[in-house]
Amino acid sequence: MDIAQRWMSLPHEWQPLFERWAEDPKNRLALHSWPQYGGQKVVGLTWGRSDAPVRLMAAVPHAHEPAGTAVMVNLASQLIAGRHLDGEPTELPIEEIREKCLITLLPDTNSQGRAKRSERCWDGAHDDDTFLKIVFGIAADGSRFGRYPEWSLKEHRPRQIGIEYEQLTDDLFVEPNTSRRSTHFKAITELHARYGHTHFLDMHQHEQPPAAILPADFDELSPEDQAKIMAWAKAIIQALSAVGADPRPEPVISYRGQERQRFFQDFWRGTCPGMLRLVSEVRNNLDRKTGVPTTMEQQFTMANAVLLGTIKHLMETAT
Ligand SMILES: [Zn+2]
Repeated sequence: MDIAQRWMSLPHEWQPLFERWAEDPKNRLALHSWPQYGGQKVVGLTWGRSDAPVRLMAAVPHAHEPAGTAVMVNLASQLIAGRHLDGEPTELPIEEIREKCLITLLPDTNSQGRAKRSERCWDGAHDDDTFLKIVFGIAADGSRFGRYPEWSLKEHRPRQIGIEYEQLTDDLFVEPNTSRRSTHFKAITELHARYGHTHFLDMHQHEQPPAAILPADFDELSPEDQAKIMAWAKAIIQALSAVGADPRPEPVISYRGQERQRFFQDFWRGTCPGMLRLVSEVRNNLDRKTGVPTTMEQQFTMANAVLLGTIKHLMETAT
């Protein structure tokens, strides 16, 4: 693969492609778009039959985690044009996928944050502290700015605002996946109301081994839904191992018992009924323990295993 060609993660690289594909009626796509403060927009598309048994929505909420974006855009290219973005023909069984799946791709639900930087990928050029200050911002005292679902310039005066946040007004900032005021939340709930998605894959990156993360409200779900999510999580772990990654061997619940678990529970409570959710993490930038950088190709390969492993598993288990 030619990774430099296959990887598109900045809004100006891929949003025009989605718009061009959607203009051609033979592609049978629905294009989705939401404006963001400051002029950027969040763009997505839906491909496939609305009566398909598997209706998957995948999204990337964090600006500094572009691997999910890159694999979604490359998947769209395969589904629509039959080719990877570097021109190689796809290996995917497109007709079989169309028979069984509706796929909604939201490659980047905070393009405003992503567009603040020109890096296409975080591959270790910045050390951990510098990287995390780009992500969360720099506080008035020079330390790394905090992580809040919502904050205002009335309460905080950071020296630098982190790209993870979405600015909603002159002074209000939110984290896309913990604030219901985010464009991320708006996009997911509007699309679920329209398509009744059966599954939601929330794609992330962190500076640790890849992982399948169970939803924060996993303990409250029915045993039947728990079993389905667990099987999906294990399929992702297997797909990661199959490409030579080193995933955590078992699915986990992150932030258990911490305030952040409650933020996620509050975010999802009562929304998108019937939609099973899973979070994936693949490595980003430098591994925090070993200091080893993660290359663009490694990031792509891991995120791609998660996305394609999900589609394969859901097709096999579709009823
Ligand atoms: Zn994340």
